Amino acid sequence: MVKKFSNMDVAKINRNRIYRNIYFSDDKMTVNELVKRLKLSRPTVENNIKKMMKKGLIVAGEQIESTGGRKPTTLEIADNHKYVIGCTISYSCMCIGLVNLLGEIVEKVRIEKSFENNKAYYARINTTIEKLIKFAGVEKSDLLGVGVVIPGPIDNRLDDLVYAPTLAGDYIDTKYIKDSIDLNVNVINDVSAIGRGIHFFNLDEDDNKVYLNIARGIGGFIWSDKDEYVGDNGIAGEFGHMKIVPKGKLCHCKRRGCLEAYTSTSCLSDELGMKLEDFFERLDAGDEKIKEKWLNYLEYLSIGIANIYCIFNCKVVICGDISKHLLEWKADLDSILEDYVSFKRDNDSDIYYISKYNEDDIILGSCVYYISEYINKI
Ligand SMILES: [Zn+2]
Repeated sequence: MVKKFSNMDVAKINRNRIYRNIYFSDDKMTVNELVKRLKLSRPTVENNIKKMMKKGLIVAGEQIESTGGRKPTTLEIADNHKYVIGCTISYSCMCIGLVNLLGEIVEKVRIEKSFENNKAYYARINTTIEKLIKFAGVEKSDLLGVGVVIPGPIDNRLDDLVYAPTLAGDYIDTKYIKDSIDLNVNVINDVSAIGRGIHFFNLDEDDNKVYLNIARGIGGFIWSDKDEYVGDNGIAGEFGHMKIVPKGKLCHCKRRGCLEAYTSTSCLSDELGMKLEDFFERLDAGDEKIKEKWLNYLEYLSIGIANIYCIFNCKVVICGDISKHLLEWKADLDSILEDYVSFKRDNDSDIYYISKYNEDDIILGSCVYYISEYINKI
């Protein structure tokens, strides 16, 4: 049966189309431009703009040159209408940011504090949010929610549990987090946050992309046909647990031979009794033993990248703590990777690149859920 739209439905659809066009357009938007793009009547557009301005959703921007007649005024999204809190939890610190609707971090606080899987730790998130919004002069009622980023796969069969062995050694019960924070909470995986943020805020135009995040754990994110691919249980892209060595090293997942067991940053730090920075300092200084470890590490990493490329046939984006170091040693990785990649032609561009995405990108990505939900409801 064909669904009939009521007048109210049509009015809502029009309002939403106008708002979305202003929100997502790279060009400066005016009433004229909206009439032309959306094929709506001028009174419909003007009426909607007037109502949205009254509600504080849209503000008048600058006047721009016209080809004749009155100079048109641009229309802009009111960035101070609503906010979202983005919160990253890692092994050694928590980082909390106040993000406006345009995906700009208004205020941010970073607290060096080792992770503890208890109520007191999560309550600290709540008190920090309260201090942060007070400092920024933002009312709690203007917060849409809190995106909490956890370095662990969000398996939809586990309800509120997230398996985060690199953080807690085991499962985290996200009910504790939700109960401790006095706002709506959405828990998201760290690599998903990077990927969703990049694609939502249009920082990357490519259609297909696979992210490989390398830190103490290894995660992934699959972006295909302009959407995230999560698989049947929400855990697609957990590349860290691809098996690359039969009966190999024991992994956090209690299986053997996983990519994570050979290429997490712990392999270059904790396992050698040093910090990651120390490892690269010694590598820079020409330490032969360290160089041998590094080349061995790159061998396994190359297997991982080549396998991911073989399955997805699109660019692999390497991000996470390893990125800044890998950028300096890219030539080593390129030469080792060459032997592992099938079907690469001489004039093909690199099958991977090393990203510069950082903590701020993760915070922004954690806010996408609430921002897009809000835009959809306009
Ligand atoms: Zn594993």
